[in-house]
Amino acid sequence: MANPVQNPVTSVKERLLPGVQYVIPVASGKGGVGKSTVSVNLAVALAKSGARVGLMDADVYGPSIPTILGIHEKPETNGSRLVPVEKHGVKVISMGFFVPVNDAVIWRGPMLHKMVQDFLGAVEWGTLDYLLVDLPPGTGDIQLSLCQTIPVAGAVIVSTPQDVAWNVAQKAIVMFDKLNAPIAGIIENMSHYVCGHCGNKDEIFGTGAARRAASVLGLPFLGGIPIEAGLRQSADSGNPIVLSAPQSEAAKAFEQIAKNLTSQTKNLNQAANQKKTAVKIGPIGQPNIEIEWSDGVKNSYSARELRYLCPCAGCVNELTGERQFKLEWVPQNLTAQSFHPVGRYAVQIVWSDGHATGLYGYEYLRKISENKTKSE
Ligand code: ADP
Repeated sequence: MANPVQNPVTSVKERLLPGVQYVIPVASGKGGVGKSTVSVNLAVALAKSGARVGLMDADVYGPSIPTILGIHEKPETNGSRLVPVEKHGVKVISMGFFVPVNDAVIWRGPMLHKMVQDFLGAVEWGTLDYLLVDLPPGTGDIQLSLCQTIPVAGAVIVSTPQDVAWNVAQKAIVMFDKLNAPIAGIIENMSHYVCGHCGNKDEIFGTGAARRAASVLGLPFLGGIPIEAGLRQSADSGNPIVLSAPQSEAAKAFEQIAKNLTSQTKNLNQAANQKKTAVKIGPIGQPNIEIEWSDGVKNSYSARELRYLCPCAGCVNELTGERQFKLEWVPQNLTAQSFHPVGRYAVQIVWSDGHATGLYGYEYLRKISENKTKSE
């Protein structure tokens, strides 16, 4: 009797974030471009529009969300689970709740991975329409861990208009692309300054590199936010500008960006639903692996054949595409020991010969079947 067929696609999201509809990472190439300020005001603007919103401060190197939101209390626990602190209609969890101010945290890759898993899974998020994740700047372990653990609905990239800032932000775009995480759009912060006396508009950081680049790359431009002293003051005093000065240009910009993000996320979700993803895969410990796809197609693979076709850099030369591994090296009794979904685009298979580094993209798996049918 075969082992029960696993369902890797729903299991991770169901296990870690059962009630969350859209996970939106907020990223930037470099620090200081206003990513955390944008995350908070965007979260509050979405909540103001009636959405149920959570905000996870994953910027472990400089968690500033509690300060910007004026949160002084610590989260409570419910059994073994953390209950987020609720402020201005947003449920918040931050590393800043657990690390004393001025303490430097030295995080290593595996610890970061565990932190992401804990924050996603051990927090009582409840039902949310949006979970915004304020990422650390750059392209490191947290970003990888998040995108490989749960399906990202659409990432938001924050940049200033400077060419140099935009060049760095592009690295974040390339990273999300490599991880197959869709990009919901670009936000240009500090896009211009309006003089409070004469109303003159000054583009202090240059003219719209992020806006132009979004159009060149074919990515949605979600909007620009002006430099406003009130925005910094409201962030320092824990009273987000969308609430403290809703008539300000910055607050109106955030409300418009929240609307654009809402429609963009829905578009991406529709597109993702049309993609063919595995809804069932298994069994483990058997010579054959069956995959049932979201469009109802069912494919059968020999475990030995899939092990041989492993796409990892150890099995295929990245430059030449030449396979470094031979079918006769695969043990005759080889089976899969477990399946681990990666985002909504691939599955990692742990084989009985100990090999586990291959990420089998769903498109790759479909192609293997199609090629087999053609050659038969
Ligand atoms: P990051 O998260 O990218 O490191 P922060 O959100 O902490 O950046 O912002 C850095 C500083 O810039 C903060 O003091 C913040 O209040 C200020 N700031 C961010 N955006 C603006 C803006 N549009 N106008 C004025 N000050 C801003």
